[in-house]
Amino acid sequence: MLHVTKSFLPDLKEYVKYLEKIWDSHHLTNDGPFVKELEYKLGEYLEVENFIFVSNGTIALQLAIKALGLTGNILTTPFSYCATTNVLIWEGCQPIFVDIDPNSLTVNSAQISTTTDLNSINGILTTHVYGNCGDLEKQENISNELGIPLIYDGAHAFGVKYKGRSIFNYGTVSTCSFHATKVFHTIEGGAVMTNDHKLADKIRGIRSFGHKNDDYFDIGINGKNSEFHAAMGLVNFNHFSTIKQHREVSSLLYDSLLHEPVIKYLYNPDLERNFSYYPVIFTSEKILLQVTEKLHNNQIYPRRYFYPSLNNLPTLSGIRCTNSEDISRRILCLPLSANISENDIIKISSIIMSSL
Ligand SMILES: *Cc1c(COP(=O)(O)O)cnc(C)c1O
Repeated sequence: MLHVTKSFLPDLKEYVKYLEKIWDSHHLTNDGPFVKELEYKLGEYLEVENFIFVSNGTIALQLAIKALGLTGNILTTPFSYCATTNVLIWEGCQPIFVDIDPNSLTVNSAQISTTTDLNSINGILTTHVYGNCGDLEKQENISNELGIPLIYDGAHAFGVKYKGRSIFNYGTVSTCSFHATKVFHTIEGGAVMTNDHKLADKIRGIRSFGHKNDDYFDIGINGKNSEFHAAMGLVNFNHFSTIKQHREVSSLLYDSLLHEPVIKYLYNPDLERNFSYYPVIFTSEKILLQVTEKLHNNQIYPRRYFYPSLNNLPTLSGIRCTNSEDISRRILCLPLSANISENDIIKISSIIMSSL
């Protein structure tokens, strides 16, 4: 059986070494030595001044929204995982969807200025979907001109660089997810990253109930993560460049085996990619369903990331986002992982091509 991904697991002995240290120190959670080490190492690697390790990528977004004090209308993308929209609603904000650019599948910057009443907008939350991005400078300019914060959901973008700089340096604050299905994982986990020290202090405070010892300075939540999760991150991080390389070779093999009428998803040429997903686009939903059935018959389980378009979630009374709705019906993420074999990719590609 082949699923859309298979979580990387290191040699058990490598992880046990960390477990032994946890047993010795008896420090299980609450800003322990492994959490601190992971924050230091990933902060350096991702070139951000503040790297705050949290329990998952969803609470990372909630902490960012809370710390920025966002309320009211927030511009957002309809093409992402449902968490991106749900956190806004959960935090009492109103998502205002801006349709995506049909190539990058990220929020169309030009459309921001033309389609919405900008005076009523208090922030922007958008996603570096599949680790890709649109015109980040333009988005930063819009955020600066309007004087509103720009949050990037970078759940897919671990290790991605844009114009030679870590992508997490763009915007007011960025988040990442280290869930077991992501390109780099800590089993469950996530991060909030920002170069704004004041904002970072606020987030660190509310990550841990808003108090330190007897000083109750804020209303917080429990967004901490444990030594066990940090240890998994430290072990996995040692393997990240090998994992990324394998995923790159695998993606290039797909590239060489899949051709028309399969439409390949194009990345921004200014990116250094992380090969987190391998999405392909079909000419119609009917063909996508046909291909999916053939793959299922062979115990191959791709995923419809992302379907439906979030403006059509049953919990929302949606406005139309034509590009996002159209792409959502036609896009499929093929299996890709740290250990997928050449033969698997050849098999998947040939099933797809022969079913068209
Ligand atoms: C996975 C994901 C999240 C949520 O991350 P968790 O760590 O699972 O909470 C948020 N946004 C996007 C785009 C994701 O893919």
